[in-house]
Amino acid sequence: MPDTVPDRANSSVLDVEAVRRDFPILSETVYGKPLVFMDSGASAQKPRQVIDAMKNCMEHQYSNVHRGAHYMSAATTDAFEQARDRVARFLNAATPDEIIFTPNVTAAMNLVAHAYGRAFLKAGDEVVVSEMEHHANIVPWQMLAEATGVVLRVAPVEDDGSFRIDRFAELLNDRTKLVSITHCSNVLGTNVPAKEVARLAHAAGAKVMFDGAQAVVHGPVDVQDIDADFYGFTAHKLYGPSGLGVLYGKLDILNSMPPFLGGGDMIDKVSFSGSTYKDAPHRFEAGTPAIVEAIGLHAAIDYVADLGFDAIQAHEASLRDHAHERLGAIDGVRLIGTAPGKAAIISFLVDGLHPYDVAAVLDRQGVACRVGHHCAEPLMDRLGVIGTVRASMALYNTIAEVDALAAAIEKAKKMLA
Ligand SMILES: *Cc1c(COP(=O)(O)O)cnc(C)c1O
Repeated sequence: MPDTVPDRANSSVLDVEAVRRDFPILSETVYGKPLVFMDSGASAQKPRQVIDAMKNCMEHQYSNVHRGAHYMSAATTDAFEQARDRVARFLNAATPDEIIFTPNVTAAMNLVAHAYGRAFLKAGDEVVVSEMEHHANIVPWQMLAEATGVVLRVAPVEDDGSFRIDRFAELLNDRTKLVSITHCSNVLGTNVPAKEVARLAHAAGAKVMFDGAQAVVHGPVDVQDIDADFYGFTAHKLYGPSGLGVLYGKLDILNSMPPFLGGGDMIDKVSFSGSTYKDAPHRFEAGTPAIVEAIGLHAAIDYVADLGFDAIQAHEASLRDHAHERLGAIDGVRLIGTAPGKAAIISFLVDGLHPYDVAAVLDRQGVACRVGHHCAEPLMDRLGVIGTVRASMALYNTIAEVDALAAAIEKAKKMLA
């Protein structure tokens, strides 16, 4: 048997056609053409396992959590807490109490900036981010800086999108109190060596947070191995529902932090002479949480875990390599972000063509890409571009779809020439 034929018995090979059948939306057509969905970096599509879990919850087992003294409330609370437990195992947290449900990863960053930043950082202390951060990992720190006089420092990236650990290390000093860096760039696909970042941050006496919005989708994350103090991600990019994010924090740090939002569910006792708060995670979950969404995230994590990151990574690496090869061979196409070992997030420009025009032609071919600054304006400035077209791949994309992307770019060149 030629070695190009995948061995179906080998669990490290992804059966992409079987995977695609799990995602109902992938059989849709747009403008009479098959949908080629390459905007999963903005939000991923959902497998029917996630849709069914959420539907099942709403049809058969739904109530508010942590309060009612009745069957449905107990059952829903159980399912909700099992979702927390599943997330804890997914990240290898030491205990589910380290898992806080938030509305999205943006809220996770804001929670840390408010509850940790305002309590423990003071004027002159330094927070280090990188040039390739999403606005969600810039603006909360700028707001903290305005409120407290904390100083923001920025670790540079190379022209090819690589993160230079030595240049990052040079920024650290005894004023550095917090490092908050993306684990994987949503524009460039660059993977940041999180464990090394954490080691250096800790050696400088700083706490470290990672924005894992992209990283958890493309590879396994072990917060204890990394030794992250905080780690955030967002469910909707991990094939789960929108409206839910996760903040992991080390338990002793979380319990040392004051609450961020106040209200129901987060208190121990309330009176007009003062209130006391629960411990983590509930201290940071004021109000009714995203119940159905948490159950959906549980199903999404099970889905990804069943396929296995070995298979997912091998498949996505082949998509990335094929995309770099095909797009790189098109005259005038410039790939933005070619760091070694990057994720299958392909940003590019076509010489002489506005990225919005290119994306519009791709769209008419059924190829859905994102275009613009990707919520990373400082990175666009650093790279000297107004924006990029971004084809962000997921476990359900195929080599044939990458070929369709390349063909659509050729068409855009002809039409817009
Ligand atoms: C998408 C994304 C975010 C923001 O996610 P939300 O769900 O909108 O909060 C933050 N960081 C990175 C790296 C992202 O890709």
